[in-house]
Amino acid sequence: MAVSASSIYYRRLYEGELLEILLSPEFLDEVLSILLFQSIMLFPFFASMKAGSPFEVIFLAPLGFIGYLILSFKFPLGLFTRIEPLDYPVPYKVYVAKLERIKEANAFVSGIIKPRIILLSPLFEFLNDDEIKGVIAHEIGHIEHKDHLKILVMLLISIIGIELLALSFYYEFVAGDEFSSLFLTLGLILTLLFGPPLSYYWRRVELKADLHAARTVGKDAYISALRKLYEHDLLPLDWGSEDHPKLEKRIEYIIKNLE
Ligand SMILES: [Zn+2]
Repeated sequence: MAVSASSIYYRRLYEGELLEILLSPEFLDEVLSILLFQSIMLFPFFASMKAGSPFEVIFLAPLGFIGYLILSFKFPLGLFTRIEPLDYPVPYKVYVAKLERIKEANAFVSGIIKPRIILLSPLFEFLNDDEIKGVIAHEIGHIEHKDHLKILVMLLISIIGIELLALSFYYEFVAGDEFSSLFLTLGLILTLLFGPPLSYYWRRVELKADLHAARTVGKDAYISALRKLYEHDLLPLDWGSEDHPKLEKRIEYIIKNLE
């Protein structure tokens, strides 16, 4: 999701000597999750090279997906970052992940059946209590609009895409059949279909979560939280890129739809 970032973003994001940053729990978690994610994504392709029949590819590929699901919901930040419960009078459990060296100011929903809200500790460095409530309300908006389940559907679609590509590998390198290009084409069509249109869709999803937050805590507190997040330039990369709309667009949408 991270597409581009300014160098200022990076200079502000990391705090401390290089070694301290590299050894921080959140950095280790980041490396771990990238490694696991990549190996799980590549697993269907390795499996396809050893498969005895196309049905084996179809059965083996979802294993990687199931592994990914377990990882992403059981260890939202990985193994090392300290996560503490936070007492907030909202209908969902709220936790704070204590980051030491990476100043990412973000919040997200984790879990499927019992969704939880996780706030990253740098948020507390510059947001007041009302603004924090606004951030929590934004995440509650995601839960109530069932956005965490929509992500699941997207993951399912992406595994179908991976499965089609793995089948094309199987036909190309194992079976030596002309089906290869058919599955390659199908896999690519799926990837293209769910590329650019989806980023537009997710921007709408964000705007709706913003609206929910502004209705809950009042537009002034929420807009102030948004402004501070953008000013500090500590937003996660995806907030500033194609998945999240620009600040003025977000404020405009709130004002237009609240009245
Ligand atoms: Zn959001």
